[in-house]
Amino acid sequence: MTELDLTILRTQVEGPVLTPGDPGYAVETATYNLLTPMAPAVVVGAATLNDVQCAVHFAAEHGLAVAVRGGGHLQPRTGAGQLALTLDRMTSVEIDPVAETVRVTGSPRWTEVIDAAVPHGLAPVSGSTGTTGVVGYLLGGGMSPILGRSYGYGSDHITEIEIVTADGVHRTCSPTTEPDLFEMLRGSKGNAGVVVAMTFSLIPLVGPVTAGGVWFAGERAAEVLPVWRDWAQTLPESATTSVAIQRLPALSDIPYPIRGAFVVHVRFSSIGDPDDAAKWIMPIRELGAPLMDTVGDLPYAESWTIHADPQEPLPYLDRSMGLGALSDDTITALLGQVGPGTGCDLVSVELRVLGGALDRPPAAPDVVPTRGLPYQLFAFGVGGRELFEHNTRQLDGMIDAVRPWDYGPKMVNFVSPEEGLTPAHLAAIYGPHLYERVVALKERFDPHNMFRINHNLVAG
Ligand SMILES: Cc1cc2nc3c(=O)[nH]c(=O)nc-3n(C[C@H](O)[C@H](O)[C@H](O)COP(=O)(O)OP(=O)(O)OC[C@H]3O[C@@H](n4cnc5c(N)ncnc54)[C@H](O)[C@@H]3O)c2cc1C
Repeated sequence: MTELDLTILRTQVEGPVLTPGDPGYAVETATYNLLTPMAPAVVVGAATLNDVQCAVHFAAEHGLAVAVRGGGHLQPRTGAGQLALTLDRMTSVEIDPVAETVRVTGSPRWTEVIDAAVPHGLAPVSGSTGTTGVVGYLLGGGMSPILGRSYGYGSDHITEIEIVTADGVHRTCSPTTEPDLFEMLRGSKGNAGVVVAMTFSLIPLVGPVTAGGVWFAGERAAEVLPVWRDWAQTLPESATTSVAIQRLPALSDIPYPIRGAFVVHVRFSSIGDPDDAAKWIMPIRELGAPLMDTVGDLPYAESWTIHADPQEPLPYLDRSMGLGALSDDTITALLGQVGPGTGCDLVSVELRVLGGALDRPPAAPDVVPTRGLPYQLFAFGVGGRELFEHNTRQLDGMIDAVRPWDYGPKMVNFVSPEEGLTPAHLAAIYGPHLYERVVALKERFDPHNMFRINHNLVAG
């Protein structure tokens, strides 16, 4: 790739074509996780569909792998020698209140869709934080802490996807048009090409939900976790819960009872009758002496406050595992690594309860591997390169301790940049049959593996 090649590309596209050192390059390649910076040889800030197609043709001509940055939350395999695409300049969000659908183009974040949908009494099956990219989330299935157990994965609601594949062709796929491509896209992240638009249905949701958190002193983890586990099994599908053992930083946006504290954070949400929800949360309240209790009416637009994930980019290392069971022994093993008195300083160790509609098959085939998974474990430690080994040791120690309960498959949205880097590991995450299927689809739609800057779905 010469300077002349880049000059020619610049004449073909409307958006900026930037190389390292150019003003704007750092912004264009910024990621949420500061431990996974992107460093492509060239980044194209696509402003039109033609820009995306030109960039893909350019990458093919010059043998460059293509990376797509949406919300920038999950970028494995970043490095030099790549062409990166951003789609922010193509972003639009168009609600159809009659059909109860939304068509998004480019790279919206969940906040943008939620803010557009809520005034119509509608809500997307969005994730725990508004800063996540809509497309990146939905390509991985997408588990919503409010609507997941009632309405399934976010990707179950997609009706149409527009994509530019490695041959530069703009394709539209749906359950009836190019159904194999539609199948592959829902669960394989960015392995098939550059998604430029999506249409998906929204959920009618008038009025607030009942949601929030109850925080207890972290020293009570061995008391709270078994009660939480047993209680979670009694909840109807319209209610969702997770629990997190957290060593919270002393930041000014964290309220005082929990600022800088070691806590057990029980999260709860219900889209059912508020009076019922008030009864359902009682067993957790009866544990007594919470540090803080915010469960009450919550507008969907504030759904991100349930998990209260960090909003600003930060350096972090994470690990996840699908757990097939959460027995007393599992809890003991987990707390033996991350509980009180262990010296652990991971910021968050979270268990999400799945089930309900998340277990039901999709209307059209997909490659989401986690239907039937009862629990998802996700943990992260914050810190730069100097804490890399320290955090790796803590996270791997935790994973090793709960390995006897490893379900095999786990949510692809929670596979960290350091995981899923070999076909064998990815086959375990998808399960062997589904992996064989998704690899066959990958070979068909991206035969030269142009889209490999991701958890790359290739044969072993
Ligand atoms: C704080 C936090 C909270 C989270 N909460 C949840 C949650 O509640 N539920 C859940 O399911 N997940 C959750 N996630 C995981 C998140 O959904 C995934 O990391 C998701 O992939 C992020 O998408 P992104 O666009 O923000 O990230 P990016 O890093 O931009 O993209 C992630 C992947 O998707 C691909 N991609 C993105 N856009 C496109 C596109 N237009 N075309 C082709 N490929 C594309 C990229 O190539 C990359 O491989 C959370 C993550 C974080 C950091």
